This record gives sequence, structure tokens and C-alpha cells, in this order.
Amino acid sequence: MERLIFDESHDMFRATARRFFEAEIGPHALRWREQGFVDREAFLKAGEAGLLLLWADAKYGGAGIEDFRYEQIIIEENARYGDQCFFATLHSRLVGPYLGKLGTDEQKARWLPGAIRGERILGIAMTEPGAGSDLAGMRARAVRDGDDWVLTGSKTYISNGQIGDCFVVAARTDPEQRYGIGLFVLEDGMPGFRRGRRLKKIGLHAQDTSELFFDGVRVPATNVLGDPAKGFGYLKHFLAEERLVGAAMYVSNASIAFDLTLDWVKERRMFGRSLGAFQNTRFKMAQMRAEIDALQAFVDHCVTLHNAGKLGVDLAAKAKLLCSELEGRVTDECVQLHGGAGYMEEYRVARMYTDARISRIYAGTSEVMREIIARSLGLDERKMS
Ligand SMILES: Cc1cc2nc3c(=O)[nH]c(=O)nc-3n(C[C@H](O)[C@H](O)[C@H](O)COP(=O)(O)OP(=O)(O)OC[C@H]3O[C@@H](n4cnc5c(N)ncnc54)[C@H](O)[C@@H]3O)c2cc1C
Repeated sequence: MERLIFDESHDMFRATARRFFEAEIGPHALRWREQGFVDREAFLKAGEAGLLLLWADAKYGGAGIEDFRYEQIIIEENARYGDQCFFATLHSRLVGPYLGKLGTDEQKARWLPGAIRGERILGIAMTEPGAGSDLAGMRARAVRDGDDWVLTGSKTYISNGQIGDCFVVAARTDPEQRYGIGLFVLEDGMPGFRRGRRLKKIGLHAQDTSELFFDGVRVPATNVLGDPAKGFGYLKHFLAEERLVGAAMYVSNASIAFDLTLDWVKERRMFGRSLGAFQNTRFKMAQMRAEIDALQAFVDHCVTLHNAGKLGVDLAAKAKLLCSELEGRVTDECVQLHGGAGYMEEYRVARMYTDARISRIYAGTSEVMREIIARSLGLDERKMS
């Protein structure tokens, strides 16, 4: 399907990004999946290529490009030619903006240049063993003590948990207020801050999803982002963009799995003809292509709205919901069309199938997305019962 949101400068940027992912990420993906994490060097190389925190101001070493289409291109090219486990978008677009939009000039000068160069890898720690969808139920606590805050508690399922140097950590600052949460920047080496296990997962094997522990970590007040009572509002604000990032990634993944399968069904022969000649195959492929194209058009529209500052939380939730569900259905159908080969890890489609399972869970589950959409329709259980 022809896409109309990109111009010549985007096409040139896409060609550069493609060369980078083909040369520096794709060839290492299988080794990283074996070792369970991405080499730090990958971030350094992405930094050298100017592909990290594109939006950051030139005075910190960034390109000052706010246009989300460039990030969309990075997401698409990484998905196709790199590897989804190289979670540069988490670093650049899901965590970086907390520092860039909430940070003071002093904080930005301290953290952004290293992050832009890929020397300081970023992560975000919201989820706890007892609080995921219900973030307001978090138990990690930060108590003010002189010029510091003392942080105690733990987080789990944190991406970049082992290779990360700098984490935005959400912790309760007011035990009386359900939404009294602050955001604290924890840096590698702070006494009392330690990493737990690299968790074994069913997919995304090169993403180092980990536990983090805070045993009375003294965090200087200069490491607090914004107002320490308003963290919940900040999280909600940034989650809208996170869901658009997700939607762009999931629809790309669906399209890649589709392309791999189109080649496969044309090649694979049985009963004297190609697998693609059976009506079942042709109809399944036709249905998938139609759905992918429709959602790609929707995502592109959301990107245009986001660039205009008009992407609402409910629309971002619709995009995240539909694209993650589509990715799940498409990768499942594609495995089916590959037969036994689709169950073998050596086939990319098998890896895409297990990788895709998380898309309906992280960055807000499908059920949470439906709640957000229902509330935007005036169907808010809290106000109706
Ligand atoms: C690979 C991976 C990477 C991750 N990376 C990060 C990270 O970098 N940083 C971070 O902070 N977190 C991260 N997470 C955590 C992720 O965001 C959470 O797992 C997710 O938000 C779901 O929370 P939970 O696991 O506590 O599930 P729960 O919230 O316990 O959900 C269990 C079930 O309850 C359902 N449910 C919840 N609320 C409702 C409702 N209102 N109505 C109906 N059903 C409901 C859910 O949809 C789900 O089906 C990651 C997780 C994984 C697996």
C-alpha cells in the first residue's frame, strides 16, 4: 500500500537507518538472543549514527527533530532489518522524554549528552510484583530526608534492566494519597541500588528484562524529575506516546511476518501444487493483507495527529489495542501456514510469534486499553455504579 505521510527527506533518512540496522544490528541478533542481552556497543554505534534521542536539543548533541515520523522509520527499519530486542526506542522515546521534558537545564546537561551518544543506557521502572496495570497500587516508597530522598522497594520486568545505567523510577511520596507518586532518576553505582535476576521469558530473548531493588537508596533532590507529587500525571501523559510507539512496532511486525509467509507459501509445494494455490491460503493471506493495510493507515493517521499535538489518550489506546491484537493473530496464522517449520526457532516466524505475545500485555494490557476507550465513551464504571 502506498503511504502518503513521508516526503523525500524521510526517504533519505530511511535509507540511512536501513543501512545501519542491516550492518550493525541484524547480523548480531541471534547471538544476542543466545546470550540473553544486547551488547552495549549496539547503543554506542546507534549513537554514532545519530539515531538516538533524535528529538533532543542540539546543545546537548541531539538533532532537535520532534517529527515523530523519523522515530516511526527507526522502529520500522529496526523491526525489519535489525531486531526487536534492540530496544533503542525505549531508550530514545519512552524514557528519554522524561529527562528532556521534565528535567531542569542542569539535569538535561547531566544526562542527555551521554544518552544521545549511547554511553548512558536508559530504562524506566514502574511495575512491581504487586502493581502493574494498577500502578497507583505501587509500594516502593521515597521519604524526604534533608537534601535527599530515601528510596525503598523493588521493581520487576524492567527492560534494559541489566545493561541500563540510568532508570526513571516511580515511587510513592505520599502514603495518604493514592496518586501521590514521584519520579526519581537512579544511576548505576548508587549505594543500595542493585539489580536482581535477568528473567527468563518465552520470547524477546535478547531483551534483558530484570528485577531492580532499592535498599534505602539516598537519591539527591537534584535527581527528582518535576514535582515529586505529580509523577502519576506525568506517567499518564507519556504513556500515550508509548502506545503509539507500540502500535507502529506491532503493525510493522505483522507486515514482516506476512511477507515472510508470502514467500513461503509461494515456494512450499504439496499435492502437486504450491501451498499458495489453495483457497484457504489465498483467503487467509488476502484477509491478513487487508487488515494490515487498514491498520497501517490508521497508525499513519495517528502519527500525523501526534505531530500536530492532537493525539488523544483514547486514540493511542485504540491503535495499541488493535495493532497488538493484529500482530498476535497474524503471527499465529503465519506459524500455521509454515507448518512444523513455524514451530522451529531457526525460522524467524517462530521467533516473531513468541516475541509478539507480550505486545498485548506491556505498555498497558488489551483489557486496560478497552477500559480507556470505554471511559472515553462515557462508560466509566466508577461513575456509573
Ligand atoms: C518483557 C516485558 C518487558 C517489560 N518492560 C517494562 C519496563 O521497562 N518498565 C516497567 O515499568 N514495566 C515493564 N513491564 C511490565 C508490564 O508493563 C506489565 O507486565 C503490564 O503492565 C501488566 O501488568 P501486570 O504484569 O502486573 O499484570 P496485571 O496488572 O496483574 O494483569 C493481569 C490481568 O488482569 C487484567 N486486568 C488488569 N486491569 C483490568 C481491568 N481494569 N479490567 C479487566 N481486566 C484487567 C489484565 O489485562 C491481565 O489480563 C514489562 C513486562 C514484560 C513482560
